Amino acid sequence: MQSLAPLRWQTGTIEQIVPRTPRTRSFFLKLSEPFMYEAGQHIDVRLTAPDGYQARRGYSIASAPEMGPDRIELCIEELEGGEVSPFFHMVAEPGDTIELRGPLGGHFIWSSEEGGPILLIGGGSGVVPLMSMARHRTASGSKVPMALLFSARTWEDVIFRDELLEMHGRRDGFDLVLTLTRDVDKRDGVHARRIDSGMVMQAIDQFPALPKRVYLCGSNGFVDAAANASIEAGIPATAIRTERYGG
Ligand SMILES: Cc1cc2nc3c(=O)[nH]c(=O)nc-3n(C[C@H](O)[C@H](O)[C@H](O)COP(=O)(O)OP(=O)(O)OC[C@H]3O[C@@H](n4cnc5c(N)ncnc54)[C@H](O)[C@@H]3O)c2cc1C
Repeated sequence: MQSLAPLRWQTGTIEQIVPRTPRTRSFFLKLSEPFMYEAGQHIDVRLTAPDGYQARRGYSIASAPEMGPDRIELCIEELEGGEVSPFFHMVAEPGDTIELRGPLGGHFIWSSEEGGPILLIGGGSGVVPLMSMARHRTASGSKVPMALLFSARTWEDVIFRDELLEMHGRRDGFDLVLTLTRDVDKRDGVHARRIDSGMVMQAIDQFPALPKRVYLCGSNGFVDAAANASIEAGIPATAIRTERYGG
């Protein structure tokens, strides 16, 4: 999809800030130069200090393209000691403008027209671009079989939890499989271990065929482990696409 504006730095005005979990918040930005984007793409954010020092970081777009070209949702986790994410959590307020550039990334994208089945595997804030894909599936009225295998630390750390449970509850071909690696309480239907091949097999159990594509997103270690688990589950490596957040 072509962007409406050339890829240059522009400003986004924070319209709304919504807490998602104790460590993550969504930022709804109104773009000064609207652009079309695909589910899975990201933007660059640039912060400039009074002395001219600049810090630049990538943030995935959480909203579905159907939200329109002039607004995007980002969801940012606060990393203690970081340069950029604490700014969003401790300084940024509605009405502030942020420098950004996008949309970026042409590999980690999915459009419902491409079909499926689609397996999404996310760790922590790695769920953000996958959420855009899941929302896009719903907003476009697609019935492509899709499963999201989501690993979070605890029940409170499940970003977009209510919305994901609601999507799962519709029973329209979207399945949520959760695993909580540090929860003290055992919960029905929720795993309590790191992602492994058995969990991947369970996630794709309802699919009529092997996934056409698998999207993995999270820290480097998470993506490596999830890719190995997917291959052990019988998914061809060529079907796997990854987005690494570092760490
Ligand atoms: C394509 C892409 C999309 C992304 N999308 C998202 C998203 O949707 N949501 C999201 O939350 N994140 C996302 N990220 C990650 C994001 O870009 C940042 O990396 C993240 O927010 C941390 O940035 P920061 O400036 O806060 O921390 P940084 O300053 O980069 O530091 C990261 C961590 O390293 C530690 N650290 C820094 N310097 C040192 C040092 N010298 N020694 C030891 N430790 C150190 C810090 O304490 C901190 O915990 C994405 C990354 C990419 C590449």
